[in-house]
Amino acid sequence: MTCTSETARIIAKAVSGEALWKDELVGLLTLTSPEETEALFQAADGVRRSCVGDEIFLRGIIEFSGHCRRNCHYCGLRAGNRGVRRYRMTEDEIASRAGMLGEKLCTTVVLQSGEDPFYDKERMCSIIRRVKNETSLAVTLSIGERPFEDYEAFRDAGADRYLLRHETSSPGLYRALHPGHDLAGRVACLRKLRQLGYEVGSGCIVGLPGQTADVLAEDVLLIRDLDIDMIGIGPFIPHPNTPLGGHPAGDAGLVLRMIAILRLVTRDTNIPATTALGVLDPGARRKAFNAGANVFMPNFTPDPYTSSYEIYPGKGPEAGAIAKASEGGYAALFEGLGRTIGTGYGCRVRASRGCAETPGTGGGA
Ligand code: SF4
Repeated sequence: MTCTSETARIIAKAVSGEALWKDELVGLLTLTSPEETEALFQAADGVRRSCVGDEIFLRGIIEFSGHCRRNCHYCGLRAGNRGVRRYRMTEDEIASRAGMLGEKLCTTVVLQSGEDPFYDKERMCSIIRRVKNETSLAVTLSIGERPFEDYEAFRDAGADRYLLRHETSSPGLYRALHPGHDLAGRVACLRKLRQLGYEVGSGCIVGLPGQTADVLAEDVLLIRDLDIDMIGIGPFIPHPNTPLGGHPAGDAGLVLRMIAILRLVTRDTNIPATTALGVLDPGARRKAFNAGANVFMPNFTPDPYTSSYEIYPGKGPEAGAIAKASEGGYAALFEGLGRTIGTGYGCRVRASRGCAETPGTGGGA
């Protein structure tokens, strides 16, 4: 494998665990040589193997509400999109669906929705308590920005993890894409979640208008500085009923380079091969597992809801196909990669904090 001496130096520095400077991150993000890109992926794969092992953890997603009060310019669920069928699942529906996940080898349920005030603090706490009482699943919430007292109540009800992507580290781009909201508010939520003891997930979108390699390098640095535990990196996919409907989709190759770089920089975090990456390029998900990813998030939203949760086009049918995959199907997919299905909760394990294999007992936070 041939690298320029500068690329080889940066990769070796990252593998050794030394922090990279921003211009070194930009150098890796802008690699164009297939040989150098492959060297980056192999280095990330090696760090993945030594820091988090060969297991791939399944986190089953239930998208329980298609309502959202926000108007993010890239999202099909935005409040201003009148062309989407909105739905809400009942507590019984959510609990019953979560009960099926254990049979699918998932050890975590991800309860995801738009920002929907219908699920107020009391209603969400009731759902969380019910899922915790009726299953042995770790509970991850992905329900947006909330008052800090809600985060506290959800944690007390038993929630283990919280996903809240920062979307972009550029304050100007964030403001332009999220009317009425700013990056500082988002980061304050992430810091509060960390302070409350959640395992915290974040991440960004690759391919937003005006986004440069410099901005993506800042995304990497923000994720590192916030000490994020789970990192979701997805490509921008245009939705026709949004202000960005005419903007081209993100580049799957750049998403893969971001995943590899984040594995090198953050070492022991959990990084999914995202659904959006699989929708943009079905082969790219497999490549992501060879470039640092260690989590797979099958969608278990039941029909008829799954096709209505259209944050970007093409997601519904693809997600449905995943949900129908049998346990054998997962095993075959992962065995082909030389990997196995994770059997524990897949909490982040690090020397300084350890990880109890029972979520909610504090060690995994
Ligand atoms: S990205 Fe999330 S918060 Fe923004 S409109 Fe879509 S569902 Fe709502």
